[in-house]
Amino acid sequence: MNDAADVVIIGGGPVGAALALALSGSGLEVTLLEARPAGERASDPRPLALSYGSRLILERLGVWAALAPVTAIDRIHISQQAGFGRAALTAAEARLPALGYVADYMQLHATLHNALQDRGTALRYITGANVSAIRDVEAVSEVEFTAGGVQQSVRARLAVAADGGALDGVADMRSVDYRQSAVTTRLHSELPHRNTAFERFTSGGPIALLPSGDDLALIWSAEHEQAQALCGLAPAEFVAQLERHFGKRLGALAIEGKRSLFPLALRYVTQVTKKRAILIGNAAQTLHPVAGQGFNLGLRDAWELAEEALRSGREALGEPGMLKAYAARRRLDRGGGIWFTDSLVRMFSNDIAPLRAARGAGLVLLGCVPPLKNFVVRRMTFGARG
Ligand SMILES: Cc1cc2nc3c(=O)[nH]c(=O)nc-3n(C[C@H](O)[C@H](O)[C@H](O)COP(=O)(O)OP(=O)(O)OC[C@H]3O[C@@H](n4cnc5c(N)ncnc54)[C@H](O)[C@@H]3O)c2cc1C
Repeated sequence: MNDAADVVIIGGGPVGAALALALSGSGLEVTLLEARPAGERASDPRPLALSYGSRLILERLGVWAALAPVTAIDRIHISQQAGFGRAALTAAEARLPALGYVADYMQLHATLHNALQDRGTALRYITGANVSAIRDVEAVSEVEFTAGGVQQSVRARLAVAADGGALDGVADMRSVDYRQSAVTTRLHSELPHRNTAFERFTSGGPIALLPSGDDLALIWSAEHEQAQALCGLAPAEFVAQLERHFGKRLGALAIEGKRSLFPLALRYVTQVTKKRAILIGNAAQTLHPVAGQGFNLGLRDAWELAEEALRSGREALGEPGMLKAYAARRRLDRGGGIWFTDSLVRMFSNDIAPLRAARGAGLVLLGCVPPLKNFVVRRMTFGARG
């Protein structure tokens, strides 16, 4: 089958789905191709900290209310192990209803998937569609995929790769191997978390404890071997190791969920556009989860691409001017997000004494210089436009 659309989106993960929702009902013909079959729910246990800026976008997409339950983050406590300096960022100081919200990938995926299905004919949403290639053919993009065992293709003015970086050969990727993996699980704490998120830097990698309902979601980044070993420890030993790094500020901790492992790396393209194609979300940049930036940045990619597509109009979709305008809009936010997370990992994941002192001084400054605090919170909340 050969088909036509104005925009074809490859990948119905949270970023591709958000773009499809933002474009649906705009008058543009949109096709969304997702490899996962209908009815197969994402089985990804990673927790997601959504910024307040992401909440505003999800509200505009009409999905925020359906995302419940989410847990508000009112305070972020940042510290480093074996070193001085700490900082607290609060929603009250930032004059925001919350610094962010904790959901999880599966919940977000299910909510967006339901919303896509509710859009009916405003959107062509094909699940179980495995894309194998994106080609530039006769002034359109041709996307080849297999669905239901049948090889098919769609031609569109603009192809958007939102495949999370899974599709080979779309663009040249640069990568930095942090030699770290993240262990995720859920924990119960003796003392209430009071809607505080903790980011604790250790020489092996950052540890994040996020409020999630009455419990906590853990993202513990450590060197590969250590992370693997952590997954195999008996629950009591795992908690003892965690307390050795994190301390007892929440009283006794107990494991509530299964442990999962995610290898971590920075992967990014130097150019987010190709001929008649744009890369967004993790397909454009896959970040270390420190400071919870990846999805928030990808959601801004999707939102700003939708704005640019609607501003430029159907005829200009995929044309060099439109591609250039999109790339220019995203340059600062993307570059800032990549630089910010990469610098945090490099600066904090080591045991070098002068760096430890510099980090401590940086945390003290962050904790007591309100304009600096405000700058950091606004960038984390709204990106480069904050
Ligand atoms: C442990 C961990 C914790 C994290 N925590 C946070 C956090 O707190 N806050 C935050 O903002 N970010 C966080 N992130 C990052 C966040 O998970 C990603 O940035 C986000 O999932 C990217 O979404 P995406 O839609 O771009 O890609 P993905 O989530 O990878 O989705 C890609 C989609 O494309 C589909 N697909 C792939 N290949 C094809 C193909 N060939 N044809 C058709 N479809 C295809 C897949 O099935 C999938 O549905 C975390 C990451 C990790 C690893």
